[in-house]
Amino acid sequence: MVVKTLQDLSTLVGLSKRRGFVFQSSEIYGGLGSCWDYGPLGSLMKLNVKRAWWNTMTRRSDIVGLDAAILMHPMVWKASGHVDGFSDPLVDCKDCKTRFRADNTESYIEHKKCPNCGSKNLSEERNFNLMFKTTMGPLEDSASVVYLRPETAQGHFVNFLNCQQSSRYKIPFGIAAIGKSFRNEITPGNFIFRTREFEQMEMQYFVKPGTDEEFFNEWKERRFAFYQKYGIKKENLKFKPHEKLAHYAKAAVDIEYKFPMGFSELEGIHNRGDFDLSQHAKFSGKSLDYFNEATKEKFLPYVIETAVGCDRLFLAFMCDAYREEVTTTTDEAGKTSEDIRVVLGLHPEIAPIKVCVLPLSKKEELTIPAMKIRDQLAEEFDVQYDETASIGKRYRRQDEIGTPYCVTVDFETANDGSVTVRHRDKMTQDRVKITELNAYVASGLRNF
Ligand code: ATP
Repeated sequence: MVVKTLQDLSTLVGLSKRRGFVFQSSEIYGGLGSCWDYGPLGSLMKLNVKRAWWNTMTRRSDIVGLDAAILMHPMVWKASGHVDGFSDPLVDCKDCKTRFRADNTESYIEHKKCPNCGSKNLSEERNFNLMFKTTMGPLEDSASVVYLRPETAQGHFVNFLNCQQSSRYKIPFGIAAIGKSFRNEITPGNFIFRTREFEQMEMQYFVKPGTDEEFFNEWKERRFAFYQKYGIKKENLKFKPHEKLAHYAKAAVDIEYKFPMGFSELEGIHNRGDFDLSQHAKFSGKSLDYFNEATKEKFLPYVIETAVGCDRLFLAFMCDAYREEVTTTTDEAGKTSEDIRVVLGLHPEIAPIKVCVLPLSKKEELTIPAMKIRDQLAEEFDVQYDETASIGKRYRRQDEIGTPYCVTVDFETANDGSVTVRHRDKMTQDRVKITELNAYVASGLRNF
């Protein structure tokens, strides 16, 4: 048997649509550029991705959760630097009308050529602000302008003291949040890798100045370990230190994942110093100093930030998990044929469906007890039920969406009160009592 990994993104785009992971947004109207909808399986899987991140963060004794509003006071974005500085250099091709970024388009950087048609008839570089603007209230005047947040982090900064004082945590402590962000990206693409509406999972860790380097290194290692814990292969991950630092950063490193288009940023880890808190203190006129009652110390904390896109991580999980097991057989006449088993080898916590129930035939004597078993499992797990096509085909359907276990109800089930449970990766089968089935699946998922 030969195992092939994912070669190009289009394979995954096709699978995602066919099996209900991700659909083009507003597809029946021709789609909306770089916006995607998560379907029946995708929405389940996305929740699992978020849960993995959220639990990893907020079950620590030093991190609290936050769910801040998308719309914030416009001064937030003045203070953060986004109104004046959150822009990319943009160039228009006057011939084919392609619009592209001047700073990351190779044909332009090297030869001042359009990446689409090769023309040199190009506009000047202009700075293009990536924030989406809208208006609040009934009047559409300049006083009512608000922005869709381009990152979740600012909610953490402006709520720093609210979170710290209400939870009575001492520094060092962190705030974690998951939420939508919006960027009017000039060149979105690569499926859900870069979109204009996306979800971020960010954690800001507030530390005493002077201890920031140590915590920066700790979080680097922790975040790298997180991806491996959830099954991403180590050889597909690497650190990439930033050569040029953003105005707010004291140090920055990316964790990159080897997507089919090459190693690209998955997560950013930054030492932001006290830039954000001091800006908000200055613009709001409110002190954001931290005060430690016990030691009577007062200071403005430094911030270590870890920021990953949920959609981008979803894509990394899919890419990493995809495999084709190709078995070639030769018959007596010497004719060879290929059998391909497509498997999404997702970590069981990430897989959208944990177990599928399959009656061996469509006869009621099997489908009625099979539905009961489905309901019994559904009390604890996300399940599917499938009674159409041959059992082999149904196993393959589940393999392709990453379901760890398939449960087959057969003609013996009524006699022995047992079912056959098949393991996605090992393809081994166990006979399990229906009364012990939930416990078997639960422990199996933990030790998959
Ligand atoms: P990039 O260099 O890819 O534009 P960035 O450095 O601007 O990303 P950050 O502002 O650090 O990204 O955001 C943190 C994370 O949010 C990124 O690592 C990425 O996973 C995710 N992210 C950022 N922009 C997008 C986007 N347009 N679509 C999907 N995810 C995004």
